[in-house]
Amino acid sequence: ALDAGWAERWVRRTADAVADAKDELTELDRQIGDGDHGENLHRGFQAVVARLDDAAAERGGDEADDERTVGDVLKLVATTLMSTVGGASGPLYGTAYLRASKVSGRAQIDPPAVVAVLEAALEGVSSRGKATVGEKTMVDAWQAAVDAAEAAAGDGGSEVDVLRAAAEAADTAATGTIPLVATKGRASYLGERSAGHEDPGARSTALVLGAAMAAAL
Ligand code: ADP
Ligand code: MG
Ligand code: MG
Repeated sequence: ALDAGWAERWVRRTADAVADAKDELTELDRQIGDGDHGENLHRGFQAVVARLDDAAAERGGDEADDERTVGDVLKLVATTLMSTVGGASGPLYGTAYLRASKVSGRAQIDPPAVVAVLEAALEGVSSRGKATVGEKTMVDAWQAAVDAAEAAAGDGGSEVDVLRAAAEAADTAATGTIPLVATKGRASYLGERSAGHEDPGARSTALVLGAAMAAAL
């Protein structure tokens, strides 16, 4: 089962992955948006890491004092992203983590609970942004991840199996946004000219889920 330590590793790995991919995400957003997606997410996840560092210092390095749940960690991510990331992606990711935190208020989460976390995140993005699959947004990656996670858990997969399936599906779905015409978000202003470019939010979703898997290994 996965615990708050996993959630913290997930978030820290996400911050590293976003830092590494900052220029790539910004370049994707330059092509069909306003060129700030890498910077937006980097700012947000650096703020998250700073708050995790503060919390760890308060515990004084005594892991026995760590009584957090997965949900506690995800809630910290949600509130920090909402207050530090502007644009479309701040509220979208913020709502995703907030909904996910509400279904993970336990010390340990098993494969069905991992699926529930991903389902809740998708629900958060969908309810906030009103996009459906095929509109060339991060929903494309989240939906593919949820479908794959549900299948993996249904096959009796472990937490790692579920997260691997989700991460691989999100990666494939992000690439799959390339030929699509955007009908939501800033890229939709380009109409047909949005085709031929990968959606930056779908790519960052694949990074987030890749980090979730790597943190569980
Ligand atoms: P902004 O477009 O405000 O500059 P970002 O560049 O940080 O914000 O994020 C852009 C990403 O947000 C897009 O690539 C897309 O994946 C996602 N996005 C935008 N609008 C929506 C929406 N309505 N629903 C889901 N995702 C969306
Ligand atoms: Mg942008
Ligand atoms: Mg912007």
